[in-house]
Amino acid sequence: MPKYSLVVPIYNEESTIPALYQRVSAVMDKLDGTSELILVDDGSRDRTLDLLRELHDRDSRVVYLRLARNFGHQIAVTAGLNYVRGEAIIVLDADLQDPPELIPDLLALWQQGYHVVYAQRTKRVREGWFKRLCAYLFYRLLNQLANVDIPTDTGDFCLMDRQVVDLLNQMPERNRYIRGLRSWVGFNQIAFKFERDLRFAGEVKYTFAKSLGLAINGLVSFSTVPLRLSTYLGLFSAVLSIVMAILVLYWRLFTPHSTLTGFATIAIAIFFLGAVQLISIGILGEYIGRIYEEVKHRPLYTIAEVGRKIESR
Ligand code: UDP
Ligand code: MG
Repeated sequence: MPKYSLVVPIYNEESTIPALYQRVSAVMDKLDGTSELILVDDGSRDRTLDLLRELHDRDSRVVYLRLARNFGHQIAVTAGLNYVRGEAIIVLDADLQDPPELIPDLLALWQQGYHVVYAQRTKRVREGWFKRLCAYLFYRLLNQLANVDIPTDTGDFCLMDRQVVDLLNQMPERNRYIRGLRSWVGFNQIAFKFERDLRFAGEVKYTFAKSLGLAINGLVSFSTVPLRLSTYLGLFSAVLSIVMAILVLYWRLFTPHSTLTGFATIAIAIFFLGAVQLISIGILGEYIGRIYEEVKHRPLYTIAEVGRKIESR
């Protein structure tokens, strides 16, 4: 059994894999125990799978999983975690934004008794201002709303103890916001500050829509406050309508020459109420959609191919 497991989700990263393997295996060589590198191919359409097979032939520490289609980053990590055998598990991105050279530092903290060591970004200077602003606002909002403490500015780059991974693997939920689940588990957790590198090559796989999806997922999975929002919106419009009723009555009774042409007011009121109702239905829908996903009990992913050598060490 390897002592350390590294899990890397990969989607169309043919241009980064050679460098990834080179840097990660250099780190693995220096570790004080045996290790395995679990490369999860999330249904890539480029040469990724061929490269993974090649690495697996060359290096018996390399395990690869091929998901039968693209299931998304969080599910790819989940699949990898299902296959780990080590005592300490490290998750990192394939694009070398999470420097593998930091792994010994993470392990040092694990050896001090921490169950989860999550890497926390100190700066995001090299990303666009819009992404930075969105990320900043989202993490603060999540922190306000979520019923567990989800540390700000952390991604999936982390080290987890076997115990934590076993618990994650037991969680049946389909909508997986791993950084949230990881906090939810508890135990001794500690942040490790680091500066995130630029993507080594290739392009970002997280489109704006995917990031927004992940953000909504995080919010809905870890908070029911949005549901209450519709109650508040309803109360707010009720108060507003009472105030308006009083105003209209007052004008009608005490300002004799007023001509109450209310077309604009009515139009605005209709749009406003329509918006309130649609937003409320939308929020309800987010939760109901998730309930539906959960009750279907489909497997989280399907696997097309596994490459793992049985070791007799
Ligand atoms: N990824 C994946 N499946 C996807 C999208 C991304 O496995 O559907 C992987 C990708 O190969 C990379 C990691 O998830 O290793 C993070 O993706 P990316 O670098 O595009 O996102 P960002 O760093 O901007 O969060
Ligand atoms: Mg990246």
